[in-house]
Amino acid sequence: MIIPLAEQSKTYSVLVVEDNLLMRTILEGHLRDLGHPVVAVENGRQALETLQSNHFPIVITDLVMPEMGGLELCSAIRERRSEGYTYVVMLTAQDSKDEMVRGLAAGADEYLVKPVHPAELAMRLKTADRILSLESSLKKSYEEIKALSVKDHLTKVYNRGYLDERLVHEVKRTFRFERPLSLIMFDLDHFKIINDTFGHAAGDQVLMESAWLMGISIRQEIDWIARYGGEEFVVVLPETILPGALVAAERLRARLAGHVVVVNDVEIRVTASFGVASFTPSSQKEDMTMAATLVEKADRCLYLAKKEGRNRVVSAQL
Ligand SMILES: [Mg+2]
Repeated sequence: MIIPLAEQSKTYSVLVVEDNLLMRTILEGHLRDLGHPVVAVENGRQALETLQSNHFPIVITDLVMPEMGGLELCSAIRERRSEGYTYVVMLTAQDSKDEMVRGLAAGADEYLVKPVHPAELAMRLKTADRILSLESSLKKSYEEIKALSVKDHLTKVYNRGYLDERLVHEVKRTFRFERPLSLIMFDLDHFKIINDTFGHAAGDQVLMESAWLMGISIRQEIDWIARYGGEEFVVVLPETILPGALVAAERLRARLAGHVVVVNDVEIRVTASFGVASFTPSSQKEDMTMAATLVEKADRCLYLAKKEGRNRVVSAQL
């Protein structure tokens, strides 16, 4: 039976483990004909060594080999942590139900009777392809869900949960390396009036655009922004002393004040008040309350900025 090219499975790389040179060469040839990149080794020990530095989604292994046999190899593969699933096909002798059962019990996904029939091999690899594709699509969905779970639904910046969790890590790092850390907290001015005057859809638009504008105005890959709640946001600036954070906050303030949000042909201008707090640890002795203290201090400065007339920056060094 000839497998049409289009129906061949994806070209997952295959590790062949077989002590018999002839068998090994034939199997390698079949796999290459099917378009798979192949690495072939002689026993289980060599296979484990190879797997340490490379991930092979598919392993086809003989059962009886010197040094380490297929059953032991299979158990070892199942015990180790790897970046993805390893689909194991066990090679068994003709008519040996016993070998087949032992292989499956050791954790093999499939078995192939020797000498390997090319068409049967191709079909076994199609099964492997289905399982591996399913695994990678599950992994992709998981990554997507994970990414969604740390983002604020409306503004697409990080959410409060992520802020609370990651800020603690930033503070830990700050103590460990005795490096500075700054935090900017800002709150849109008179947001309630925007909502009351233009409606909640316009209010949402203002929130989204403000968050987006602030997000692109910070140092990319270094600083990060989260929605603290309502119309309040936090920007975390690692490795930044107070003067640097003040420059950043002033830049954010000016950018927002100069921005116009257009909703249904209506121009809406919005400003924000900013509170900045910075600290540099003087020792590596960690203060567990520092994350909360930093937020409180920035919040206090923000309150003063509001009180002093809004659209301004107030700062404090801890
Ligand atoms: Mg053998």
